[in-house]
Amino acid sequence: MAPSAESSASGAAAASASAPAYKRRRVVEEEPDLMSYEDDDDTYEAYIPASKRKQMELQRIAGRGRVAVAAPGAGTAVETGADKGGDDDDMGVRQSKTALLHAARELKALQAKEQKSEAEKAAEEERKILDAHAARRKLASDMELAKGISYEEPLKTSWRAPAFVRRRTEQENEELRDKHHVLAEGKDIPPLITNFRDMKLPPPLLAHLESKGIKRPTPIQMQGLPTAFSGRDMIGIAFTGSGKTLAFSLPIVMFALEEQRKLPYVRGEGPTGMIVCPSRELARQTYEGIKVMADVLAQAGYPEIGVLLCIGGISMAEQSHVMGKGFHIVVATPGRLQDMLEKKKFTLEACKYLCLDEADRMIDMGFEDDVRNIMSFFKQQRQTLLFSATMPKKIQDFAEQSLIQPVVINVGRAGAANLDIIQEVEYVKQEAKMVYLLECLQKTAPPVVVFSDNKNEVDDIQEYLLLKGVEAVAIHGSKTQDEREYAIKSFKSGKKDVMVASGVASKGLDFNEIQHVVNYTMPKEIEDYVHQIGRTGRSGNTGIATTFVNMNTAEQTLLDLKYLLMEAKQRIPPFLAALDDPRAGQGASLTGCAVCGGLGHSVKDCPKLEDNQRRQTAGFSRGDGGGGGY
Ligand code: ADP
Ligand code: MG
Repeated sequence: MAPSAESSASGAAAASASAPAYKRRRVVEEEPDLMSYEDDDDTYEAYIPASKRKQMELQRIAGRGRVAVAAPGAGTAVETGADKGGDDDDMGVRQSKTALLHAARELKALQAKEQKSEAEKAAEEERKILDAHAARRKLASDMELAKGISYEEPLKTSWRAPAFVRRRTEQENEELRDKHHVLAEGKDIPPLITNFRDMKLPPPLLAHLESKGIKRPTPIQMQGLPTAFSGRDMIGIAFTGSGKTLAFSLPIVMFALEEQRKLPYVRGEGPTGMIVCPSRELARQTYEGIKVMADVLAQAGYPEIGVLLCIGGISMAEQSHVMGKGFHIVVATPGRLQDMLEKKKFTLEACKYLCLDEADRMIDMGFEDDVRNIMSFFKQQRQTLLFSATMPKKIQDFAEQSLIQPVVINVGRAGAANLDIIQEVEYVKQEAKMVYLLECLQKTAPPVVVFSDNKNEVDDIQEYLLLKGVEAVAIHGSKTQDEREYAIKSFKSGKKDVMVASGVASKGLDFNEIQHVVNYTMPKEIEDYVHQIGRTGRSGNTGIATTFVNMNTAEQTLLDLKYLLMEAKQRIPPFLAALDDPRAGQGASLTGCAVCGGLGHSVKDCPKLEDNQRRQTAGFSRGDGGGGGY
């Protein structure tokens, strides 16, 4: 506290203590100087007009506490400002104090914000990026969207699980799921059934499956079949070669059987169910599988089921006998299907079942609008099923919004590689690839598939192999349908040892026991890699995949690959081991990028996101041209 004037006069001891008081007094006395700061002469008080004085007064008030402004040339004034100890401390100092407090508070808040963990920040950033790239609209037909139609309850079917299965408690069901590594999410998940008999399949169908070596359902079938039989919408995610096709084919056959039994279809009626695939070859393969089942049933005296293949590149006249009778099932690619629907060759009035195989790939390949258009031909509620081995979170979220109380079934992580594949990654210089390929083909017996993402390269490789005496066929989107079919047929039948293919052959094709997949070029996106190597190691067999990488391979892709190999407990070659993850220490998650499923980067560095944006701006769709089956 400041000593009083009296104490300053009482004795030498107090004299020093009085100094500040003295100073303070001087300040008070000199305060008017603040007003004459424009005047160089200390002693002479110049006349100041009233208006100017007013202005100066205002400035003085505003400037209080700001010492430098206070009094140029008046050293004491400086001390005044610095003298913060006084109880008659001027307003300016107090103001500056509160301002400081305020600033400190703000700073603290800011620091607290900054203290959010790096991971949190990264997650937030990712969310923002995802929001900015969120799918435009729900995956429902424009008609449904326009009329605001949304169905709340799943469809009802007549299928019921056997009583002993229905009696199982939820805990018992969960234990069974755990045992078979099935993860199911959703409301009222139907129970898992561990054998085909209990699924109430017709005996001739059971015998047929058994004759093909299909005796016990795979995990995706154990959970997927009861879910589909119950009429539920579902997303089925399981690794390549794990039997997804059967998980949606058997229900469609059973539903068709039931319809035909109730009231036989006549010309112009049907279909009751539809499967849409991203490539003609895959559609044909699925069609053939279903056709065999239909024939087996018909031969055993069951009602006849009509199956229509609706793909580009073939003459629909070939199938006039199917169309002439009324049919139950359509297996299609989007282009031809829309064409047929628009020309009113058939309608979807009675259609209640829609399955999209390789669903994420379809949306990725630019078929999103086609799918929506196809949906607009449905006239009633349908059951919708989506299947794939890869399903990045972004697409899964988008799909989930569009389904009715869906059951999401996962066998392993979406986007994980099949563990029956031995994955080898080799560093091969660009110019050495062709010669090394020849050596690489010796690794296993045929059949072998060689993938390249470039159509010209596919042709070059085939030509080179033919020159070297290797029986090789080639397939890519720019070949004619006849060429494509010849390639598949001769390779499938074992006449040809090697098939050189673009991405068009990477999805869903199930050739008998491919021994070896060579990725002549590492695909940019890790999902494509997973599908490509997935042509081998199917149905419990072991396969080998060899992938060439070199300095042309993007580091991002290599990191994704490294994590995928680590996840599958594969040998990591030294050049991959040496790759550092820039996210190391930031709690890099093993859940995968939400856009492409890659484990080696976050959304903000996703090459696919960039690629998508570029294509969107340029108005391109993805995929390799004719690969879509138009
Ligand atoms: P995905 O679509 O999951 O990649 P597919 O449905 O094409 O796999 O099936 C791969 C192979 O496994 C096919 O040849 C199929 O006949 C066979 N398969 C399907 N289900 C079973 C099963 N339960 N047991 C044995 N093999 C099966
Ligand atoms: Mg498949």
